[in-house]
Amino acid sequence: MNARIVLLPGDGIGPEVVAEAVQVLDAVCDLYAHEFEYAERQIGGAAIDTTGTALPDETLADCQSTDAVLLGAVGGPKWSDPSATVRPEQGLLGMRKGLGLYANLRPVRVYDELVDSSSIKAETIAGVDLLVVRELTGGIYFGARQEGTQTAYDTMIYSAAEVRRIARVAFEAAMKRKKKVASVDKANVLASSRLWRRVVEEVAADYPEVSLEHMLVDSAAMKLIRYPAEFDVIVTSNMFGDILTDEASMLSGSLGMLPSASLGGGKLGMYEPVHGSAPDIAGNNLANPIGTIMSAAMLLRTSLGLDSEAHAVEEAVEDVLSRGYRTADIANPDDKRVGTIEMGDLIVEALQRRKDAQ
Ligand code: NAD
Repeated sequence: MNARIVLLPGDGIGPEVVAEAVQVLDAVCDLYAHEFEYAERQIGGAAIDTTGTALPDETLADCQSTDAVLLGAVGGPKWSDPSATVRPEQGLLGMRKGLGLYANLRPVRVYDELVDSSSIKAETIAGVDLLVVRELTGGIYFGARQEGTQTAYDTMIYSAAEVRRIARVAFEAAMKRKKKVASVDKANVLASSRLWRRVVEEVAADYPEVSLEHMLVDSAAMKLIRYPAEFDVIVTSNMFGDILTDEASMLSGSLGMLPSASLGGGKLGMYEPVHGSAPDIAGNNLANPIGTIMSAAMLLRTSLGLDSEAHAVEEAVEDVLSRGYRTADIANPDDKRVGTIEMGDLIVEALQRRKDAQ
């Protein structure tokens, strides 16, 4: 197939990890006879430096008319003055809004080879394979607010339509997984959560094969650490999702391993690793590119419909890990330590070997 992908390398380690993911996408093209055209555009601090804005009009316009977007990371100490009016994160928020990306999907898997890399006991995290579906464009981050010197307030507002569309994303995902949804809210206190619960129930009626459990967010935060392997799909609102996705990311041992997808109504999606620009290791060939490479696998599957190619990339990553190769963030003393570039090369080689063996 022919597809066009906009690359937004961004700041810090962003360009390093995106380069490895592109190498993997190129290998997919060669091995499976596809043609991907790339357009590299600016976002974040790099865009501020050259254009004065974190999301140049040209970047957003190009992303609106493409098949998929692959992003590295934005931000860094150079642009971190809290009083600045132009900040790198505005690039991300502008992309979510401009592309209508209301669903953020973060799969968290604990690889058998890496169970000892997590700060949580190996027996607790063995077999973890869950997906957090976070609502991204509504809720308390977007409600009316007022900030005075003595009082301040924020408003958590959800419409039934917003809840319905994110619930559908979660149930559709569950149908392709273990058919379990945990809907996380705070319905014992919040009116918006009671609406959330009612609408999720309505959507659940269309998916009789999927089991639904409602969970209060405080209890979900506890269970995620105590019994993480019992979860399949978690669906939740913007703020609860913000917190729970960071908590869930720690199950895997390193932020560098985790991919994400932000989706809207159609096929277009933005794919990016969960981590930030890691200025402490940028430019030293130390970054783990696996989160970005797995994001590219999500791109292949979700925006381009190339399921077996996505699966091949995921298997190639597992193959390399099972042969003991690790970047510094996931390495134990006995592992074979490699840098960003070498890890990318190893994954490409594993893809090629897998194809040759077919
Ligand atoms: P971070 O994710 O950049 O780094 C946290 C820690 O994890 C650091 O020690 C870093 O070295 C390590 N790390 C992260 N990714 C890694 C990888 N791929 N391989 C190996 N180690 C990795 O978070 P932070 O330090 O809080 O933020 C740094 C900058 O990134 C800030 O400017 C922040 O605003 C920005 N940020 C951007 C995004 C994004 O672009 N989506 C997300 C989070 C933070």
